Amino acid sequence: MNGDAKALVDDMHYDYLIVGAGLFGAVFAHEMKENDKKCLVIDRRDHIAGNIYTKNIAGIDVHMYGAHIFHTGNERVWRYINRFTEFNNFVNSPIALYHDELYNLPFNMNTFSKLWNVKTPDEARAKIKEQIVPAKSADGQAANLEEHVLSMVGRDVYEKLIKGYTEKQWGRDCKDLPADIIKRLPLRFVYDNNYFNDRYQGIPVDGYTSIVEKLLEGVEVRTGIDYKQMSGSGDTWDKLLYTGAIDEYFDFKLGHLEYRTLEFEHEVLENVTDYQGNAVVNFTEREIPYTRIIEHKHFSKVGGRDLGPDTVITREYPMEWKVGDEPYYPINDEKNNSLYARYRQMAEQCDNVLFGGRLGAYRYYDMDKIIEAALDMAEDLK
Ligand code: UDP
Repeated sequence: MNGDAKALVDDMHYDYLIVGAGLFGAVFAHEMKENDKKCLVIDRRDHIAGNIYTKNIAGIDVHMYGAHIFHTGNERVWRYINRFTEFNNFVNSPIALYHDELYNLPFNMNTFSKLWNVKTPDEARAKIKEQIVPAKSADGQAANLEEHVLSMVGRDVYEKLIKGYTEKQWGRDCKDLPADIIKRLPLRFVYDNNYFNDRYQGIPVDGYTSIVEKLLEGVEVRTGIDYKQMSGSGDTWDKLLYTGAIDEYFDFKLGHLEYRTLEFEHEVLENVTDYQGNAVVNFTEREIPYTRIIEHKHFSKVGGRDLGPDTVITREYPMEWKVGDEPYYPINDEKNNSLYARYRQMAEQCDNVLFGGRLGAYRYYDMDKIIEAALDMAEDLK
């Protein structure tokens, strides 16, 4: 073999093949590159950045796979991500629309005063106390989401702001859902519409795709290629990081893990400066088929609010997932969790294969948790 041909062959050997150019794969690739490892990142979509992909349309960064608002209480993660972007001062303060009634979220004094015309935290607490229904079980633990919410905030909040939204989001009755789903939503007795409790929050000023581009600088990336196609590619690698669905990796040998999927209806509205006056409006009644409308420009035009002539909105429709659909929200019920545990056992038997990310872990993770997990994995391997 002459020298040139050998160089070509050498070029096609990687320390890591990373399947998935989303946040987990990109952070991991970046860390490994810093550690002088040669990585190839592939993605079956025709773009990088996975579900945090943002695309500039009409001068607006559009969140193509649903709204992503970065928030974290983790100093390490915040410092890390700030190396790749600047964040604006966006604070998520969604509005909920129930028929023609409009409420602030998360559940706070603004919500309660609108609901009951109360003014002080004590008055709000007294009103909730009147309404709550204690959980039925002997140990006082709520058996499902409905019981949990009724025992915490009572009937009005449940009926107007939770029941319809949750049932269309998950396609199941609130009595058949675990309480955990809703535990991420704050309940406070102050006038504070900030959806998150975390210390740090914002939207990257140049969009999320640019973060991933920076993370992947100097790393070989191929898009529009499926992992299955790699076996015929002639490329070789020592280790694999797989951030796709764990059941797909094993060819669904034990059966399919279930998800909720989403359909996004993006619409450019020309000559509409401001469609809804807020980034996120939730539609909490069951009859409206979408859960929320995102108006993307409000994520970035904070402060001075030079809103520009046009706007882009996205309606989000939750759907029953079927094989072949995009998996968004894992259904972490007993049946699926135990199936996942069996796949996990299979994963542990695989030498030189790592699983990561939301789909690898079959968990609904916020972005900061993904970054933390990818950093931890990379550190363990250094
Ligand atoms: N939720 C609700 N009403 C709302 C917003 C949220 O009942 O107006 C419930 C719903 O069950 C949802 C959960 O709270 O699945 C978590 O909401 P979050 O906004 O955190 O969901 P995400 O934006 O991550 O989909």
